[in-house]
Amino acid sequence: MSDATTAGCSKIALISTPWPLYSRPSMQLGTLKAYLKAQVPDLAVEAHHFYLNLAEALGYQLYHSLSERTWLAETVYAALLFPERLQIIKKLFDRQAGKKSPLGNTRFETLTSSVKAISDAFMDRVDWRACRLAGFSVSLCQLTSTLYFIRRLKQKYPHLIIVMGGSSLAGEAALDLFAVFPEVDAVVQGEGEIPLFHLVRHLRNSPNLNDLPPLPGLCTSATAAHHGNPASFCQLENLSRLPAPDYDEYFQVLQTFHPAQAFFPTLPMEISRGCWWQQSSGANPAGGCAFCNLNLQWQGYRSKGPAQVVSEIDHLTGKHRTLSVAVVDNVLPKNKSREIFQQLGRLDKDLRLFCEIRATTPAAELKVMRDAGLQRVQIGIESLSTRLLKKMHKGSTAIQNLEIMKNCEVLGIQSISNLMGHFPGSDAQDVAENLRTMEFALPYRPLNFVGFWLGLGSPVWRNAQTYGITAVFNHPNWAHLFPTHMLRSLRLVIQAYRGDKGYQKKLWRPVEQKIKDWEKTYRELHQDPSAGPILSLRDGQDFLIIRQRRVRSKPFTHRLTGTSRAIYLHCQRHRSLQKILSRFTTVPSDEIVAFLRMMVAKKLMFAEDGKYLSLAVPVRPTRWERWM
Ligand code: SF4
Repeated sequence: MSDATTAGCSKIALISTPWPLYSRPSMQLGTLKAYLKAQVPDLAVEAHHFYLNLAEALGYQLYHSLSERTWLAETVYAALLFPERLQIIKKLFDRQAGKKSPLGNTRFETLTSSVKAISDAFMDRVDWRACRLAGFSVSLCQLTSTLYFIRRLKQKYPHLIIVMGGSSLAGEAALDLFAVFPEVDAVVQGEGEIPLFHLVRHLRNSPNLNDLPPLPGLCTSATAAHHGNPASFCQLENLSRLPAPDYDEYFQVLQTFHPAQAFFPTLPMEISRGCWWQQSSGANPAGGCAFCNLNLQWQGYRSKGPAQVVSEIDHLTGKHRTLSVAVVDNVLPKNKSREIFQQLGRLDKDLRLFCEIRATTPAAELKVMRDAGLQRVQIGIESLSTRLLKKMHKGSTAIQNLEIMKNCEVLGIQSISNLMGHFPGSDAQDVAENLRTMEFALPYRPLNFVGFWLGLGSPVWRNAQTYGITAVFNHPNWAHLFPTHMLRSLRLVIQAYRGDKGYQKKLWRPVEQKIKDWEKTYRELHQDPSAGPILSLRDGQDFLIIRQRRVRSKPFTHRLTGTSRAIYLHCQRHRSLQKILSRFTTVPSDEIVAFLRMMVAKKLMFAEDGKYLSLAVPVRPTRWERWM
């Protein structure tokens, strides 16, 4: 066995601790491992997707219930990190778990001791003596679990150089970590590939960390003390030199499970880093959507070429014999997406794709994506009020949101999108607009209501006063998890604020209730899967029939003929009144306006700012393509 304490750096370990989704390998680990192996072929890189081991040992259902709620997830390892605070942390767990949730009967003490036994046994199984460096990737829900692993490992193996990185440590968050967790030797600022490569190269020549010169993108306690701020970023100029991620260890672990515990994982894939919308948001000094802090670890927007993306997906789905792929990008590349999905379609594989898209994605592009295998999307809807979307600097409108929600219904794509309430500075008019537009959205899959939360580094956080916020600070729940003296020195990714929170909660109650009613109606009307869309359209060439299904009542039907039919089909895509009038010049404009008003009154069309959108979902998508 080699001993890294004397042999420079021939082996390193990359670790992802609980609580990411257990059904996917860690993209961060897979990408870093592949890059480091390509740069330093004789370096042994072990990737430990440990959360998978824990999920299997705890039971997938329990793991999932914990992992989908940030505060619940963070309580478990906080109790292991600070056992003397068990009762305070337990209070937060009990409050978050609630009596009615699947976790209602879980005893916190039993849970934490099981997690401790599984985690410690895992750490004991790995030959840490052979490793010189342990790198931890930290995203949402992974802070306390990572710190627990780090503390335990450093106690037993002081030679290990501990490096942390990831979205939870971007920007301000890394500033004071060294003061409270001296076990951490270095924090990567921004993306990890180049800084880690430089660090490994240094350690191979000179195993002593004290000789480390300042490296761009890497912050150590020494550089933090001297410079008082995080190191500058050091990122790949473009993503074309990134090899396909290496997920081998995740699948090796999965193969050791009892067949009853086996499942078909989803492969995370990366097409781009950053957000082009944020880049192009010249009007907003803080850039991008006001609530978003997703891109703190990147500068600019970079994307892979279509051939690279397609060959990676082809290679990895073939290698691991799975067809589910989740694209993890915050936003897909504007000018390459269509080409990428066209080429993916040509692979002739029955892929099941998931990705996040902007509401402005054109219908034709969505169709290409569906043809390539897109089955679920998260659309950046956030609001059904254009007035509020402007305040959020979302770059979309309510009519665009309705249009893409309809397009998903037409194409059979499941949309799992959110409507955000409690946004600071939103007012009664914003809420009223949301309630009104929701009346028109009822035929489509309901949105999930999510309350605004303040993200460290987001435009709202940086320009708090603009949004009526008088103070920002770490979220009070962190005070349950960390001792006071530590919390004073930490800036954590979930923040809280003083402002109009109480007012917002009251203001948005009708919206929350209406979404619950929407979900109920949608569920009831889709109990019979053969019943078709709630608001459907059948074309008879010179007439069309619109059917409006209702709960426990006979459906309404409407027949449109001649020009009425033609106008309705023309507005399958939202059109301005001017465009409609110039297309149908033989009909007097007041008749057209009266027709459009009638359609809106019957909730068969939506109107906003002189634009009109037909809402009925064509039962034959092939016809819809011709009308778009
Ligand atoms: S929410 Fe999406 S589109 Fe908006 S800034 Fe963030 S990543 Fe970009």
